[in-house]
Amino acid sequence: MALREGALRLNLLLNSRTFYKFNSSVGVRSLSEHVSSTPVTSSAPEIASDHLIYTQEHFALKESLRKIIDQEINPHVEQWEAEGIFPAHKVFKILGSAGFLGVNKPVEYGGLGLDYSYSVAVAEELGHIRCGGIPMAIGVQTDMTTPALARFGSAVLKQEFLLPSIMGDQVACLGVSEVGAGSDVSSIMTKAVRKGDEYVINGGKMWTTNGTQADWICLLANTSDGPPHRNKSLICVPMNLPGVQIARKIEKLGMWSSDTAEVFFDDVHVPCKNIIGQEGMGFTYQMLQFQEERLWAVANILTMMENVIQETIQYTKQRKIFKRPVLHNQSVHFRLAELQTEVELLRALLHSATALYIKGNDVTKLASMAKLKGGRLAREVGDSCLQFWGGMGFTSDVLVSRFYRDSRLMSIGGGADEVMLGIICKYMGTLPKN
Ligand SMILES: Cc1cc2nc3c(=O)[nH]c(=O)nc-3n(C[C@H](O)[C@H](O)[C@H](O)COP(=O)(O)OP(=O)(O)OC[C@H]3O[C@@H](n4cnc5c(N)ncnc54)[C@H](O)[C@@H]3O)c2cc1C
Repeated sequence: MALREGALRLNLLLNSRTFYKFNSSVGVRSLSEHVSSTPVTSSAPEIASDHLIYTQEHFALKESLRKIIDQEINPHVEQWEAEGIFPAHKVFKILGSAGFLGVNKPVEYGGLGLDYSYSVAVAEELGHIRCGGIPMAIGVQTDMTTPALARFGSAVLKQEFLLPSIMGDQVACLGVSEVGAGSDVSSIMTKAVRKGDEYVINGGKMWTTNGTQADWICLLANTSDGPPHRNKSLICVPMNLPGVQIARKIEKLGMWSSDTAEVFFDDVHVPCKNIIGQEGMGFTYQMLQFQEERLWAVANILTMMENVIQETIQYTKQRKIFKRPVLHNQSVHFRLAELQTEVELLRALLHSATALYIKGNDVTKLASMAKLKGGRLAREVGDSCLQFWGGMGFTSDVLVSRFYRDSRLMSIGGGADEVMLGIICKYMGTLPKN
């Protein structure tokens, strides 16, 4: 039912001003024409009637996004990777104008008002960007920084921060991790002390994606001295306030085109109205926000894995050693078959978690399982495929080496593998109590 409502909504939106503007600029055809074309690399059923959760509208959305990726993003990826940053405001404006920064966000704040399966479809399609950094930066904007604001924020706050983020007029970032607290979110030290009708913020955030370019940060801070799960709040903090300081842009193993910052807050004054929802509920809101972050990350990396496997098949088919293609060695084609099988298993888990999520279920356990498996499988795909490319795989000229570097983050960021295991154990009732 939810899917059908979403599909109808998208149908309407495809005829709306926003989509029309976008469609005409990239030459997108009518909805029925969208559906007839087949995406290039996916081995998943790509006909809507055969798909478990995607309708014709999902495929139309994916195809529209693919045009933007091919025309506006992929031609610049090499340059942005080399420069260690991409122009977030420019790229987000293109995506925002076309409706892709808020597919499941409320219509009154510029979103498309669709259910979360459309966000998963968008995340999958973003996996066609030929690096991990840019999709991650987009995901931070759409599925990591704004879900709590959309769900629990006041109308005034949504007008000020959500709407411009969905329209692509502002870049957002998420401030949870700190130098001394990543996996253990409850132990963050940043404080927001209420003084009159303002909070005064002191502390620092680490590894903040989009941090050097962001207009605002969704900041997790301690707003009281109470118990660690009840003393935190999420606050929207403009990054141009006095006392907000970008300490440095962090150099990294991978995700080069995504800027990662260390940010300090020194007596930063923010109006109390900038708090998302209720004071003291920030930890809970952030845990809920993580569900979408994790589903998004899995959807995104699925496509990347599939593309790397496909490109490895193409390369090993034409690369001859000992007078026959590399691919003709059983150890090679069997391994690729095994990896593709695992990708399909992960896809099944993602789509069943998504189907349950859009029906209103808590899918923390399934999302954590998918995130765990996604991180581990990405490491296997990267390592095995790179091996089959030989010396070429070790160069910077090919997708597989970038994937090998970029995808390593999946087992660390947004909750490390061990954190996922801990959550799964909690749901299984096997985690010893302290
Ligand atoms: C490129 C990049 C972008 C990021 N973007 C953001 C962002 O935008 N916003 C943000 O808030 N954060 C961001 N992060 C931070 C990221 O979420 C954290 O790095 C991650 O949560 C892990 O925290 P940590 O690095 O402090 O590792 P630690 O907490 O120090 O953990 C170190 C290791 O300990 C192990 N471990 C953890 N828990 C357990 C356990 N229970 N049992 C056994 N072993 C365990 C794991 O192997 C883990 O990798 C980003 C990080 C990177 C690298």
